[in-house]
Amino acid sequence: MPRVGVLSLQGDFARHRASLEALGVEAVRVVLPDHLEGLEALLMPGGESTTMTRLMASTGLREPLAAFLRAKPVMGTCAGVILLGGDAERLPEPPFGVLDVSVERNAYGRQIDSFEEDLDTTLPGGRYHGVFIRAPRITRVGRGVQVVASRAGRDASAEAVGVRQGRVVGLCFHPELTSDLRFHRWFLTEVAGLSWAVHEDATVAVGREPGGESHS
Ligand code: GLN
Repeated sequence: MPRVGVLSLQGDFARHRASLEALGVEAVRVVLPDHLEGLEALLMPGGESTTMTRLMASTGLREPLAAFLRAKPVMGTCAGVILLGGDAERLPEPPFGVLDVSVERNAYGRQIDSFEEDLDTTLPGGRYHGVFIRAPRITRVGRGVQVVASRAGRDASAEAVGVRQGRVVGLCFHPELTSDLRFHRWFLTEVAGLSWAVHEDATVAVGREPGGESHS
């Protein structure tokens, strides 16, 4: 059974672990540098990217994590995509820069902290229900970055909300907050190239508690 890490400093890491376990993968909490050892891939959850950046410094995780990200598959969601991207404003330290995108934090406005929308995706089955919580906006997509999910933008042109660059995936929405495991499964099988006895009809029970977790 593959061992897949979930960065668990802060944010909604528990839901990502539940999604991995539903698919039949061992989900490993990553809080300290040692926890990265022997992992096949990593998920970086939503939460608060400033707080996560500070916690990475105080736990000594930043450098080992940077090395891991240069070598292994990773999928970052929401705050995770901010940390993987090339530039983001007002972070205590620069993001890791393993995904050639520019990201604007909290770009969808204070009054619309959260919204849900059906997205176009390149995944089998196409449409995907996206949950956005104080989401970042991808404002620039570099060459060599593939758009895997998009929504209708301000001027009706498609706006990228999910991207892939080689073995690095960034999603502005929260696939761990729906019972639809296609993004997790696609990341593990297609991006990370893992194979295991996948739970074919896996789904997770979701009970969302708005405000109950820290996504700010
Ligand atoms: N607004 C958060 C940040 O800037 C991200 C929100 C989320 O991860 N749900 O870090």
